[in-house]
Amino acid sequence: MKSTPEMCDILIVGAGPSGIFTAYEAKKNNPAARILILEKGHSIEKRKCPKRKNGVCVNCDPCAITTGFSGSGSFSDGKLSISYDGEVGGDLIRYINPEQFRRVMHYTDDLYLHFGADPQVYGLDHSPTIDTIRRRAAQAHLKLIESGVRHMGTEKAYEIYSRIQQALEDLHIEMRFNTIVQDFLIETNPSGEKEIRGVITQDGKQILARKTIVGVGREGSDWLSGMCRKYSIASRVGQVDIGVRVETDAGVTEEIDSTLYEAKLIYYTRTFEDRVRTFCWNPRGEVAEERYGSLAVVNGHSYKDQALKTRNTNFALLVSKSFTDPFKTPIEYGRYIAELGNMLSGGKVLVQRYGDLKRGRRTTASRLVKNIVQPTLKDAVAGDLSLVLPYRIMMDLIETLEALELIMPGIASDGTLLYGVEVKFYSNRIIVNSEFETSIKNLHVLGDGAGLTRGLMQASMNGVCMGRMLTGVWSPL
Ligand SMILES: Cc1cc2nc3c(=O)[nH]c(=O)nc-3n(C[C@H](O)[C@H](O)[C@H](O)COP(=O)(O)OP(=O)(O)OC[C@H]3O[C@@H](n4cnc5c(N)ncnc54)[C@H](O)[C@@H]3O)c2cc1C
Repeated sequence: MKSTPEMCDILIVGAGPSGIFTAYEAKKNNPAARILILEKGHSIEKRKCPKRKNGVCVNCDPCAITTGFSGSGSFSDGKLSISYDGEVGGDLIRYINPEQFRRVMHYTDDLYLHFGADPQVYGLDHSPTIDTIRRRAAQAHLKLIESGVRHMGTEKAYEIYSRIQQALEDLHIEMRFNTIVQDFLIETNPSGEKEIRGVITQDGKQILARKTIVGVGREGSDWLSGMCRKYSIASRVGQVDIGVRVETDAGVTEEIDSTLYEAKLIYYTRTFEDRVRTFCWNPRGEVAEERYGSLAVVNGHSYKDQALKTRNTNFALLVSKSFTDPFKTPIEYGRYIAELGNMLSGGKVLVQRYGDLKRGRRTTASRLVKNIVQPTLKDAVAGDLSLVLPYRIMMDLIETLEALELIMPGIASDGTLLYGVEVKFYSNRIIVNSEFETSIKNLHVLGDGAGLTRGLMQASMNGVCMGRMLTGVWSPL
């Protein structure tokens, strides 16, 4: 006998910040709603990254850093970007009005504070040092973006998200872990529109829902792009961000670290006029490896606890590339370049001294041992990034580092380490209306995986907006 499919009111795919804040806000506003979250990874207490303990990546499937309750949030550096004009961390400002944006940011920030985030915010005051940094940036043709940063810290972010998981359990939100959603159930309704009825999990189970919300992050962006192709869900080829992670002695970045915490700088390069930005700044932090299936890419984080701080600061330097017709697969492009790096390093992250890159020679293990800046990513393999990155990206990175030298003397010195490849897979932007609904009725998409956000704060805000819209407490514009 065929079993009756399970039914819920709101089905959320992915327990990243966008998904969990959707559930929290919807349940708070409508306690009677039956909300089910399906998540590929583990619940937070079971999320363990062996590499964080013994330094060696054992290729967990799925990766504990990017999957499980709170998605990429729980092992992240936990920097909440507080940018009331919407310039940082996503494009949510395109979907809600500026006043709503400010209110939701304030509300979401308060929730993080409620769950235990540090009250200190960096970068919003106007100290003479910040004015000097801004002046030097202008002289180097670098744009310094005004934004505050609340730093949760890697170990604290884990604690904060653990409390949020508990809060969702207390609200009787059902969460099913180790459950991969494989397909959508899409039908044509009596009005002739395509409408989603629910999803099919990897073990073939059908789950039906009135509304299906998909917040699968960068981890799920490949899968979601596949779904868009399969069901002709309207989406647009976005940009791909490719570059390196820069690591230097914390003394070089000290002025910025202590006043702004992170400097969001934008540079248009001389040769190609490409847009290059600094991103994800980690004062006295660690460079980390991030895995997407078998692909090793680079990232970074830093601990709140003084005892866990290192002597180095790291940040990403990313070139934003948009593509025009006929090219439609930026994710594959980024992946291909990262795979080249993996190929040369036996499946690991590559590291090269800036001085070696400029001299056109590879960094060897013996050159690395003698380097002043010692890598915090211990199993990175010394190599040659010029064999991996396209000429245009290489030139963009070199020109930007030379410009950064004017505000951070020492950053373009021989000993600075460049790790590759850092690539951001938030390229496919799904076309949504002001309720984040796709061209398929009742299918809503959120967060990084949909190309709408690029960070914890806006992904969480996206969830808050969705939760309110689902429960009718707030209508969009
Ligand atoms: C190491 C690291 C450090 C970071 N540091 C910062 C930082 O300091 N500040 C900042 O603002 N941002 C940071 N980020 C980015 C930030 O974590 C993301 O922007 C944010 O988590 C995006 O939220 P999301 O809900 O869109 O997706 P995610 O957090 O990626 O969550 C998506 C979830 O969906 C699940 N999923 C995917 N596919 C499926 C499927 N088919 N079925 C079921 N579940 C699925 C995944 O397992 C995952 O748990 C960092 C990211 C990483 C990896």
